[in-house]
Amino acid sequence: MDTGVKNYVFEPEVTSVAIAGQSMRFPVRRIYCVGRNYLDHIREMKEGDERDPPFFFQKPADAIVEPNAEVRYPPHTSDFQYEVELVIAVGRRGRRIDIANALDHVFGYAVGIDLTRRDRQRDARAAGLPWEVGKSFDASAPCGPIHRAADIGHPSAGKITLSVNGDTRQTGDIAQMIWSCSEIVSNLSLQYALAAGDLIFTGTPAGVGPVQPGDRLVADIATMEKLELTIGSREA
Ligand code: MN
Repeated sequence: MDTGVKNYVFEPEVTSVAIAGQSMRFPVRRIYCVGRNYLDHIREMKEGDERDPPFFFQKPADAIVEPNAEVRYPPHTSDFQYEVELVIAVGRRGRRIDIANALDHVFGYAVGIDLTRRDRQRDARAAGLPWEVGKSFDASAPCGPIHRAADIGHPSAGKITLSVNGDTRQTGDIAQMIWSCSEIVSNLSLQYALAAGDLIFTGTPAGVGPVQPGDRLVADIATMEKLELTIGSREA
């Protein structure tokens, strides 16, 4: 008899993100990221043709890191870098979503950091290989609490910054995004069925750079809660 109760050989872990002002948390299903969504960052990376459109890649859902955590300097890199990004939290499923309706699928927004093994990303690009090794590793997706769109609306402009040990390294405005939040949700839904629990890191402005063990990172976007973390010692 099927009682509907499933037994597992071990307890499955659910990755989740805090929601600002709420005790309930947001369970994470997938993490998508947008590459090349700010022109000044495309220029500093000297990547291909400036007119090439943004594109998507993924990180594993359990790469999420809580605010104020210590992130160990990961193995397999000597050029570990930050990228501050606005994060979209998807609250409703959809495929082939119209730009006009796209924001109806958004639950809220957060401040995130797309941590990157820049040396491995560049190697992969030069060799024409997938760049998971540079982007989709353990603890590569720190994310602050989600601010519900019901509370803060849908931000289309606002300062985005990242500082290291108090020095501002990245400064931009989310109004500079090549694809807006509506366009990102719509474009992504042409490739994948979106669902509640999906997070979308929307790309980074100029000023990316390396960190060292002991560095303190503070990422900030407009009126959202800052995301702070510390880089820990090197993993073997
Ligand atoms: Mn990025």
